[in-house]
Amino acid sequence: MFELLKTDPGSKARLGRLTTSRGTIDTPVFMPVGTQGSVKALDPRELLEMHTQIILGNTYHLFIRPGLDIITGAGGLHRFMSWEKPILTDSGGFQVFSLAKIRKIKPHGVEFRSHLDGSLLFLGPRESMEIQRVLGSDIAMVFDDCPPHTATPKEVRAAVERTVRWAQECREQPRAKGQHVFGIVQGGSHGEFRESCAKALVEMDFDGYAIGGVSVGEPEPEMMQAVELTEPFLPATKARYAMGLGTPAQMVELVARGVDMFDCVLPTRVARNGTAFTRKGTYSIKGGSYKADFRPIEEGCRCFACARFTRAYIRHLLNVNEILGLRLVSIHNSHMYLEVMEEIRRHLGQGTFSEYRQKFIANYIPTQKVLATRGQTLVRGADE
Ligand SMILES: [Zn+2]
Repeated sequence: MFELLKTDPGSKARLGRLTTSRGTIDTPVFMPVGTQGSVKALDPRELLEMHTQIILGNTYHLFIRPGLDIITGAGGLHRFMSWEKPILTDSGGFQVFSLAKIRKIKPHGVEFRSHLDGSLLFLGPRESMEIQRVLGSDIAMVFDDCPPHTATPKEVRAAVERTVRWAQECREQPRAKGQHVFGIVQGGSHGEFRESCAKALVEMDFDGYAIGGVSVGEPEPEMMQAVELTEPFLPATKARYAMGLGTPAQMVELVARGVDMFDCVLPTRVARNGTAFTRKGTYSIKGGSYKADFRPIEEGCRCFACARFTRAYIRHLLNVNEILGLRLVSIHNSHMYLEVMEEIRRHLGQGTFSEYRQKFIANYIPTQKVLATRGQTLVRGADE
């Protein structure tokens, strides 16, 4: 399924190719997030125009709304949302542990109340795999226990034990035709837990491995450390996926640490507040200084929004609440994320990744506010 094409001599970065029944995916790859069966504010044609290779869907949300009957009736998630390329589905574990209102952890899953109407629901390895089979995703994720970053070592240990047991149960469930299944490594910031979890999952021989329990509100050094503690125990011949990460600069640094796949709600979420990602960091187009600024969102950008529209116009749209404003920023931000990945792949191919990484990090000034947005919303539980 995964072909390792090249490894960077100056870091752990890898150039690879992931094969699914709906096409191949060049890695490192960014996967736009389509939680509710839609990448917020973008249509499939726009996603294809910006060279999206694979998108994300979410088991928890789609299970609650519109429900499996509707998606079965539509002929699966791809047909329901008119997206022919690969889809990866999250197992719902993260949402159950962060969004659901009341819960009781049982041996075979979690009893919880819907965050929408309070109805009592149950999701475990069997249920999650069955939902993902019906959705028909190309890559399914195992149902895991994702503890918050404030969890005690004892709680993290219990989460790892549960994650490993549930992974085995997921492994034994029926899959959709051609569906790959990835294991998820938990273990917080504890090296010994990360190691034991990774080793137990590798033993089960999954099609790929995700590093979970990151992007749960932890500070950046802790996030990087969690990846560094996990990576050495993952086989080089399988894809590695850092769940829910990150900013463009974080993705560059995580590629250098051996990660192949990323997903993040940031590009579309902050776009809805008028925040644009650029190679120098983020800025708010709503700012008064852009009132008569007739340059594109980011000079040199080849996205549809930058090719046709100015900051002044987009600022105006945002100020008068025209939907087009947030759509244009969403287009630019998503395009930027995808293009950074394209550049990374090109530089890995040419053997110039180290120079690219150095230059990218030197130019990019991280905005604390953006980082905080990600942590807070994900810990509290957000709509995505
Ligand atoms: Zn642009």
